Amino acid sequence: MNIERQMRETPQVGNAPYRQIHSHSTGNPNSTAQNEADYMSRKDLNSGFYTHVVGNGQVIQTADVGRGAYDVGGAWNYETYAAVELIQSHATRAEFERDYRLYVELLRQLAKEAGIPLTLDTKDLAGIKTHMFCTYNQPNNGSDHIDPYPYLNHWGITVDQFERDLVTGFGNSNNTTGNTETPNKPTTEKDEDIMFKYIKVQKNGSQEVWLVFGNKRMHLGPKQLADANLLLTRTGHSTKEEQYSHDNYALKMIEKFTDVVKF
Ligand SMILES: [Zn+2]
Repeated sequence: MNIERQMRETPQVGNAPYRQIHSHSTGNPNSTAQNEADYMSRKDLNSGFYTHVVGNGQVIQTADVGRGAYDVGGAWNYETYAAVELIQSHATRAEFERDYRLYVELLRQLAKEAGIPLTLDTKDLAGIKTHMFCTYNQPNNGSDHIDPYPYLNHWGITVDQFERDLVTGFGNSNNTTGNTETPNKPTTEKDEDIMFKYIKVQKNGSQEVWLVFGNKRMHLGPKQLADANLLLTRTGHSTKEEQYSHDNYALKMIEKFTDVVKF
């Protein structure tokens, strides 16, 4: 794997051994990998930093590994062997797939070099952890980020798929497991993987919150909202809500293609 180094000196955070690789996505729908690397080269590091960014067919290393990082906003900053960002500005599936493969291969390579297991979001301290998992599981959490799941989900990569891909990789030449299988294709989104909330604004201005899962939708009362949020979070979906006016086209499509069920 070709890693371009545009390095900046970063503070040491915590102490060895560093037992986690953190997977992130940038949250920025417009930035290229180079934009992100440029920003990292001049930003206040106390406000956060990472070690690699993947995008536009490139892997750019922005900081040394094995020093911790201010990347997950909590006590697991002290466990960061490497923090890898995936850009979120892919315009086509082909662009996404190329970078997704690089992202997975890089996470695998970093885990192997640090002797970290290729596990995703397990309760064990050691392993590959998403920022979302850190947010919900680390001590002294101060983060509300749930990346990279919503973005991966947007392109049809489920939690299970991501987990599998981290174990098997894509059989690239630098794959030290000697895995020569045909590369896994990211699967297209299955019905049961689609889950999100939205707000419907009625003609009179009142708002309803709805949950869509697969080809069904349900109206959420205040009590059910907490359950729905937990469900979304546990299954790696975003809890963000798009707001639609009652006559919005996207809303009409949602209502056309889903059946109403009771919670
Ligand atoms: Zn993050």
